[in-house]
Amino acid sequence: MSRSWTPSSWRDKPIKQEVKYSDRKAVDKALVKLQTLPPLVTPAEIQKLKKSLRDVALGNAFLLQGGDCAELFSYCESDAIDAKMKLLLQMSLVLIWGANKPVVRIARMAGQYAKPRSSPTEKVNGQEIPSFRGDILNGYPQEERDIDPGRLVEAYFHSASTINYVRSQLASGFADLHNPLDWGLGHVKDKGIQAKYQSIVTSITESLRFMRTVGADTAGQIHTVDLFTSHEGLVLEYEERLTRRMRHPSNRLPSEATMNGHIADDNDHGWYNTSAHFLWIGDRTRQIEGGHVEFFRGLENPIGIKVGPSMKADELVELLDVVNPSKEIGKVTLITRYGEKKIESMLGSHIEAVKQSGHVVVWQCDPMHGNTVTTPDGIKTRHFTSILSEVSSALRIHQQHGSFLGGVHLELTGEAVTECTGGSEGLVEEDLNLNYTTYCDPRLNEKQALELAFLVAGHYRN
Ligand code: PEP
Ligand code: MN
Repeated sequence: MSRSWTPSSWRDKPIKQEVKYSDRKAVDKALVKLQTLPPLVTPAEIQKLKKSLRDVALGNAFLLQGGDCAELFSYCESDAIDAKMKLLLQMSLVLIWGANKPVVRIARMAGQYAKPRSSPTEKVNGQEIPSFRGDILNGYPQEERDIDPGRLVEAYFHSASTINYVRSQLASGFADLHNPLDWGLGHVKDKGIQAKYQSIVTSITESLRFMRTVGADTAGQIHTVDLFTSHEGLVLEYEERLTRRMRHPSNRLPSEATMNGHIADDNDHGWYNTSAHFLWIGDRTRQIEGGHVEFFRGLENPIGIKVGPSMKADELVELLDVVNPSKEIGKVTLITRYGEKKIESMLGSHIEAVKQSGHVVVWQCDPMHGNTVTTPDGIKTRHFTSILSEVSSALRIHQQHGSFLGGVHLELTGEAVTECTGGSEGLVEEDLNLNYTTYCDPRLNEKQALELAFLVAGHYRN
């Protein structure tokens, strides 16, 4: 691998999920525009997250990451954003209660507009048309499937709007834990389970009231929380233009001064991808010699790598050496997504190989992507029991190997959708049509997601 790196050095490498634009002039115009627009996030925020992920990697915090599979431009509206923020906040409180650790929150939001696809075309109404690749490239309606370069700029502005709204809501007391939260547990059919969840909520509420009464909130910490943004770094033309050479902030850990030493650099500046705080490489684009890995290896941001069942243990270690040669703790989050059956034979050997290598990573379980099934009616779904089973296995296997699960990565929405079956509402396959609105993978609805948080929290408390 060549040692010199620039934001465009990925262009010399083979690239999976490549975008073939037909109107080159329009693409160049969009890219020139992107290059001049201000950063969406700052180096100070990025380093703050990296520091928090170091805590996760060392076992002192837990990571909750969640949001839509494919975020649409039309999700950029206040109710949908509020619902997701509220859900992530509630889940994090439950996890804090359970794991007895701070929780780092990252939303799959404000930029999750690009989707890798297994096939370039799909059959719709008997016609073979280009697959939907996410709002940053084409539109879901049949007549909008051609790649439209103008969407690259639109993606930026929808990200900016979403982040602006999140920031202003947080600054205005949206996550002020002095305010009572509506937990809405009425749907839980089993009275025993409902009582259990209610007792957790009561415990959380009482703890917050106690803190307020004794004036424990001197640092103002329960007035607001951090919520970081993330997306898959798939469309590299876009990511390249938002990657800027910037001065390191003062909150950067001194021990990291030599970080990215493989890239000829001075110590004051680094390359920050300002499109999001955290970016990940998908399971389809993680080839060691490929363009995505080349792009990611130069970034200061904390990054994720999806780890599916085809990943070999030595390949995983090689990847870590390439993207994190200085073995910075918590710089890389391994997002494992084997599926409930395959996790048994895969995770243990991956944990051992990483341990041997000396890398200290965040181990995060994505129990969604290895557990997608299609119903006899052809609807893509996931069973709540499979999702829970993969998380439970991850918790156990890590423990057996003297490791620990650092976090979870979920596809979820704050709306009452019917896309995954199971959970305490008792959704069955026949219910899927009631409110199936995803344009890509099936998501947990707000009740199922909260329930998963209760169950994971319960694991720590039992
Ligand atoms: C995703 O997270 O939506 C995704 C496509 O995941 P993976 O790369 O793990 O298949
Ligand atoms: Mn998905």
